[in-house]
Order: sequence, then structure tokens, then C-alpha cells
Amino acid sequence: MKSLLIGVGQAGGKLARELIEYDDRMGFGAVRGAVGVNTAAADLRGLPFETVLVGRDRVNGQGVGGDNELGAEVMEADAREVLASLEGRITAGIESIFVVAGLGGGTGSGGAPVLTRELARVYDVPIYGLGVLPGRDEGAMYQVNAGRSLKTFAREADALLLVDNDAFRSAGESVTEGFDAINREVARRLGLLLAAGENVEGVGESVVDSSEIINTLRDGGIAALGYAAADAAPDAEANINTVTSITRRAVLTGSSLPDATDADAALLVVAGDPDAVPRKGVERARRWIEEETGSLQVRGGDFPLSSDRLAALVLLGGVERSERIQSFMERAAEAQAAEDGEDASGDSGAQWASDDLDDLV
Ligand code: GDP
Repeated sequence: MKSLLIGVGQAGGKLARELIEYDDRMGFGAVRGAVGVNTAAADLRGLPFETVLVGRDRVNGQGVGGDNELGAEVMEADAREVLASLEGRITAGIESIFVVAGLGGGTGSGGAPVLTRELARVYDVPIYGLGVLPGRDEGAMYQVNAGRSLKTFAREADALLLVDNDAFRSAGESVTEGFDAINREVARRLGLLLAAGENVEGVGESVVDSSEIINTLRDGGIAALGYAAADAAPDAEANINTVTSITRRAVLTGSSLPDATDADAALLVVAGDPDAVPRKGVERARRWIEEETGSLQVRGGDFPLSSDRLAALVLLGGVERSERIQSFMERAAEAQAAEDGEDASGDSGAQWASDDLDDLV
């Protein structure tokens, strides 16, 4: 699926760079370009693509310091400049735009939902969000910002793919130490998904195309993306258990949003040498996803690649009712109440969270 990336804020810019570099390294050509947008000039330096500094008149290139309301205001005021930087880039071949941002900060958290809304007014292609949830150890401000941003971003985007900063952390590693590793994991997942939808050679009988990604995300809301891989035997029959086991691992331990397994729709992509992909294994894996997610809309397809490994990529759409999202919203509600000087331990915190979840869908 040929896509353009817009990285908003520091995390957004870094993730967009990681994705474009991954796509280049793999020679996929699915990522057709990127633009970095920020209020902090320092964070735009070194990004290997066009950048737009917004809010110069308000913060003079110094950033919004975690104030996501200011981040939103600045984007409202300067969205036109960002749109102008896209002119000529959204060519007929572009099939989607991804607005990428960390939800816990200021510029991305406030700005990404506003920019998404403006893009949707101009372009007909789906506008997806790629949002990063703060880890549990990050401070209350991050949780509050992310709680607010999540709702708006999910509503404005055609779907919001979430990454939890606690997802790919190694034991003992702080969130900050883990950023590069997390960004690589995200780039591999989304990079492969976009490339899978891009595959037109059609060697396999059931290659994925962009419409399957778009249909899996059709109902909007929140999405998650899981991945796992293993060595493959040359003979497909010998790989039946491998395919079912990497599919389970992709959903249960390799997801961008751990514990989000309750889904409205899913897409299973099995990547590898076409001769090594067992049809029976793929069928079993699809049935397992149906049972695990409770979804009757499980699509599937192959991504032929020359490799001696097999990989499973599982896109889940409509995961907002999952336990993981519920517990994040409660955490954000508690942080919000503490900021307001209230006690959120009673029903009100849970109510706040559940009201917001109702708004999401
Ligand atoms: P902004 O520049 O004001 O939008 O703020 P940031 O992009 O720094 O957003 C802060 C949030 O993003 C926090 O929750 C950080 O943990 C997270 N974050 C910052 N940089 C990265 C990164 O490179 N990777 C990931 N995964 N998260 C990041």
C-alpha cells in the first residue's frame, strides 16, 4: 500500500525516519515519502526528509513543552503550511497517509489529531494514525495528554494504529533506553504490512492487496499490529505447526498493543517463500484468530519473499473494547483526576474512561 508518512513531534519524526529507512533497506518501495512537522526546531534537525516548523510566532522554534492544547492551537493556525508542503506528493499512486505521533507529549499529541482532520478534508485516500501510548512509568502529564489525544485522534483518523511503549521493552530497560528498539519493531511491522499490500507480482495464489488492509480497518477505531517469525523447513507440509505457532505469538506476545485481542476484524499475512507456506497451516491459523478475537471477519493472504524464515503479521481492527485500552483509559482518568485535585478511585474514573470509550466507536 503506497503510503506517505507525516511525523508530528519528536517521536513522530523519529518513527517516520525509522520506517522510511526500513522500507529503503528492504527495497520495498511502499513508503513513498515523509514529512516531519514540529514546533521544536532542534527535533527537526537531522531528519532525512522535508520538515515544516510550525508555531514560530508562538514558541519561536522552542517547542510547546508538553502542552498539548498549545500543540493543537499551533497546528490549527499553521495547518495550511503543512498542507502546502504536501503539494505534489499525494500523487495518484498514493493509497494512504499515516500521521505518526507520540500521544504523551505536546506537539504530536495535540497537533496530530488536528492535522488528520485537515487532511481528511482535502484528500480522499484513507488517513490513518500511528500513535504511541506512554509506558506505565512515564509521568502523569504523559498519561493525561495521551488520554485526551487518543479519543480525538481515533475519531479524526480512519483508524488509529496504537503502539504501547511498554510493548517491546526488555527487562530492566527504561522506556527511553528502549525507544530505538521499539521504533525498529514498529518499523518492521508497519513496513511489512505496507509492503505486503504492495505486492503485485502475484506468485502466490492469495497475495494480499491494499484493499484488504483498508477493509480490515474499515470500521475505524483502534488497531493493533503483531508480528513473529521462525525458521522454515523447505517443505510446506513440515511448516504447519510453525505457521500456527508464529500466528499465536504475533497476537499474544508480538503485538504493538499487548492484551488487545478482542477485535472486530483481522488480517493475517504469512510472509515467506511461497513453496514453504502450508495452506493447511494458514487455514488453521485463521481459525485460531477467529476464536481468539471473536471476529468473524478474518482475512488472509501471502506475502511471497525469498527467505528461509516464515513470518506472521496480524493486523487487528476495532480493538477499543480490549482490556488493554480500558486499563489505559482508567490510568489516564486517574492522572487527570489527580491533576484536578479529585479522587478518581471511585466510580468517576472508570465512568470517565467508559464514556470516552463509548465516544470512540
Ligand atoms: P512532542 O515532540 O511534543 O510531540 O513530544 P514527544 O514526541 O517527545 O512525545 C512524548 C511521548 O512520546 C512520550 O510518551 C515518549 O515516551 C514518547 N517518545 C518520544 N520519543 C520516542 C521514540 O523515539 N519512540 C517511541 N516509541 N516513543 C517516543
